[in-house]
Amino acid sequence: MTDDAGRDDDAPDDMPSGDPACWLPQVCAECGAFVEAPLPTLCWRCGAEVAA
Ligand SMILES: [Zn+2]
Repeated sequence: MTDDAGRDDDAPDDMPSGDPACWLPQVCAECGAFVEAPLPTLCWRCGAEVAA
């Protein structure tokens, strides 16, 4: 009679690490380049600020 039975751990097992949500802020909003430097920083491609 419990609806949450078996839902103690429903995390997907196809992504052990490297969650896309972790690096989304690292993508330049202006040109879409991936910026590896710690935020905030300037986009290496277009020079726009990539905020944290
Ligand atoms: Zn850019």
